[in-house]
Amino acid sequence: MKAGVAAVWKSRYLLPMKIAKTVLLLLFAAAIVSVAARAQSLAPIPRDLAPGFETIREETLRADLTFLASDALQGRMSLQLGDETAIQWIVSEFAKAGLHPAANGSYLQPVPLVEYRPDRTQNSLSLMRFGKETQWRFPEVLGGYRQDTDLTAAVVFAGFGITAPELGYDDYTGIDAHGKIALIFDHEPQETDANSIFNGTGNTRYATTRVKVLNAQAHGAVGVLIVAEPNRKHPSNQERVARIGGSAVRAAPLPSQALAEDELHIPAAIVSDAVAKEILATAGAAPSDLQAAIDRDLKPQSRVLPDTQATIHLRNTAVIRGTSYNVVGLLEGSDAKLKSETILITAHHDHDGMSGSEIWHGADDNGSGSVGVVALAHAFAANAQAKTGRAPKRSILFVIFAAEERGLQGAFYLAAHPLRPLETTRALINFDMIGRNETPSDQTNGLLEIPADTTNRLNLIGALYSPDYRRTVVEQNKHVGLVLDDRFDHESALNVFFRSDQFPFVLKNIPAFWWFTGFHPDYHHTTDTAEKINYVKMAKILRLAYLCGFQFAGETAVPRFVANPGVKAAD
Ligand SMILES: [Zn+2]
Ligand SMILES: [Zn+2]
Repeated sequence: MKAGVAAVWKSRYLLPMKIAKTVLLLLFAAAIVSVAARAQSLAPIPRDLAPGFETIREETLRADLTFLASDALQGRMSLQLGDETAIQWIVSEFAKAGLHPAANGSYLQPVPLVEYRPDRTQNSLSLMRFGKETQWRFPEVLGGYRQDTDLTAAVVFAGFGITAPELGYDDYTGIDAHGKIALIFDHEPQETDANSIFNGTGNTRYATTRVKVLNAQAHGAVGVLIVAEPNRKHPSNQERVARIGGSAVRAAPLPSQALAEDELHIPAAIVSDAVAKEILATAGAAPSDLQAAIDRDLKPQSRVLPDTQATIHLRNTAVIRGTSYNVVGLLEGSDAKLKSETILITAHHDHDGMSGSEIWHGADDNGSGSVGVVALAHAFAANAQAKTGRAPKRSILFVIFAAEERGLQGAFYLAAHPLRPLETTRALINFDMIGRNETPSDQTNGLLEIPADTTNRLNLIGALYSPDYRRTVVEQNKHVGLVLDDRFDHESALNVFFRSDQFPFVLKNIPAFWWFTGFHPDYHHTTDTAEKINYVKMAKILRLAYLCGFQFAGETAVPRFVANPGVKAAD
């Protein structure tokens, strides 16, 4: 700003020094007027919400985030010391804010985990056909499971692996998957069709691996093989992950973690196009024709594959058990009737740890969201205590999840073991990466349009699933003035809809958005550091969330959840 003004003066106003100073003063005065005018164009904050609103300050966010992303916290890897320090810091902040310990009198909800390190040199998939055995290993086959596995079974082709009764679509019609290995395509039918009942060009909940493997399990399958869609117009999941790059420099691959008692209990592996083609050789149609037929008619092409037996062989180099924690604090609502209902405000505290002496600082991911939830806990509590303020009518449960980077483990755990009834959980605000300006990187190049100026822009993920929630955010934004964006709801290459902690709650039909400032070249790299954060924007996002939280907590008509946003309502 300063440099810009000086440049204008130098090039265009060649005036004597004294006059120049006056011009600068005038310019400065004009700038103040224009800032004031812009401030005036924002709707004023309701008086009874102002005390809490005013506690959200850039300097506090900066100080807290500089600590969470410091070398001392060693990248906050789940089950390691740095993350435990982060957990203790959050506990002390929730206590200072005066929140109630929400897990049986504790701020800590234990999340029992199994950590395992798949052995890529051992893991294999074998195909037995015509008395001949073909074997593949990494990278043709990428598998991992929390326990050693040796599994041999016949293979069935199960289309996209989707059972969606409300869309009249079921890939398991006409096949018996009991005791079999199911080979399925990734994602979902009609991905590039804006009018598809599968949420147009966006993803539905059915497109994610976990939902597909659970569905295969429900149909009696004993294992799952997943291949990227043969006619895809985007990189496969493996190709997309390889583009992040930050993990490629690690001496040892990141560990995998799973819930110790997960409802999912069959193994899955990703296979290459070539492997799938060979397995499908007895299907009677080429993989691309099978997909084309499903895309055309939305009728299953599922079939038993004649003379096709496969063996999945999985080993780990190490398996340990450990416990991480969701940090949970409750602010009780003020309304006798509504206080039994819940608004969730969430983030995750873990990140990707260290490799050798290198630290994945995770300032944006997700120091920013963790600090954000802490700031909102203080803001809501301060407003409830202030003479001119008030408490929210419904109760607010603040949660900072464990092990998101290891597969949303803490969020899946809370969704399976809720501390408050999910039926009366009215809305969820999840922060994951709310501190940066979105800029081009290998993660998004060629896959997503990024607007030129993102300094004041916020992405909302999942808005199609609750237009009511979205309306509230747009309405409250009149007080804050961010640019709101829903690009990620209309693309399916980046899988963003599944990639943060709001998703397990979307699976439970709860209006839940991920608030996200987008990707940048430091995403999942050691260079995601605290001084690169746009604290001005981050504070605005939190102020908007504060106002939305009060709205969700007080309104009579709560946001509805739309299960099938691709299906046009009958008029
Ligand atoms: Zn994250
Ligand atoms: Zn991450």
